[in-house]
Amino acid sequence: KQLAVGVVFGGRSGEHEISLRSAATILSALDPEKYHVIPIGITRSGVWVAGPAATEMLSLGGQVGGIESPSPARILASLSSVLGELDVVIPVLHGTYGEDGTIQGLFEMMDIPYVGCGVLASAAGMDKIVMKQLFRQAGLPVVEFRWFTSHAWTTEGDALQSDILRQLGLPVFVKPANLGSSVGITRVDDPADFAAAVALAAQYDRRIIVEKGYDVREIEVSVLGNDQPEASVPGEIISGAAFYDYADKYSPDSQSQLVIPAPLAPEQIEDVRRLAVRAFQAIDGAGLARVDFFLLRQTNTLMVNEINTMPGFTRISMYPKLWEASGWSLPAVLDRLIELAFARHAEKS
Ligand code: ADP
Ligand code: MG
Ligand code: MG
Repeated sequence: KQLAVGVVFGGRSGEHEISLRSAATILSALDPEKYHVIPIGITRSGVWVAGPAATEMLSLGGQVGGIESPSPARILASLSSVLGELDVVIPVLHGTYGEDGTIQGLFEMMDIPYVGCGVLASAAGMDKIVMKQLFRQAGLPVVEFRWFTSHAWTTEGDALQSDILRQLGLPVFVKPANLGSSVGITRVDDPADFAAAVALAAQYDRRIIVEKGYDVREIEVSVLGNDQPEASVPGEIISGAAFYDYADKYSPDSQSQLVIPAPLAPEQIEDVRRLAVRAFQAIDGAGLARVDFFLLRQTNTLMVNEINTMPGFTRISMYPKLWEASGWSLPAVLDRLIELAFARHAEKS
């Protein structure tokens, strides 16, 4: 018997379009002999759609506006009409309301097996402050950072700025705690630009993280598994911009390149793969994640930058490409992810 697999995409985050592209790749790679695949879209305003409306969302690539301000009752009604007879769901959502534990909580409440990290790991992985604190407590190398709330910034901004810049020096990277795709992130080289960088980050989150900036190579590793996670070969991002920003990640004329496998010494390859598994375990990861590293050019040392619990899955994305280079085709990775979702669900019930 075929398994009914819901593939959920779109959503209320700034990464709505990327999600559509990731979902299109996944939909085309799920084996139709094994799976009865049900595309499920979430509009920008949070309404769930299936059938032709979902297919239309995919083909229009994010042009569908959706209902202006739907009520909770309307969202709930839309949800119950699409989540009927599913055996398992793949939430292919990036960013808030998808990668951050919220939708995982919904599936837990409804007792539906789902692919990927649970509530805790998703929430921790989305929050750069909590994530880095967990990494540090697990003994993993992370860059020096400080954080504060936008409230603290309005009441004691001047003191915070001088204290932080005295500690971290320049450059620093100012980021909203909860986001991805480099949105709201500024590299600050001049103290005069610090306040504007904080103001930008504060548009996206009430918590702001400031990190010491380094001259880095960027190395990424894909992780797959539950209790015995496996790490792929590492890849390297050669950014075409001053840093790996939104345009560099997604625009069609981006100059950035993926180099797979990353040209590293054999010991360093082993180190980075081991660190990736430890980072995954530090947040209690499940299913999949991509762990991103900085290799500091000055000292040739590795730091864990971040973990992404629903990494990009577009045709050109690092996560599937790293597995491909490690001998796992995308259909095989998806089969495994679905097995892992059932295994995790069975453990809990
Ligand atoms: P996101 O979750 O949005 O991808 P990141 O923390 O990965 O946010 O930052 C985006 C990019 O900014 C990184 O890929 C890197 O190019 C650059 N960057 C971020 N923090 C630092 C840092 N501390 N030192 C050097 N470069 C950084
Ligand atoms: Mg991220
Ligand atoms: Mg990143």
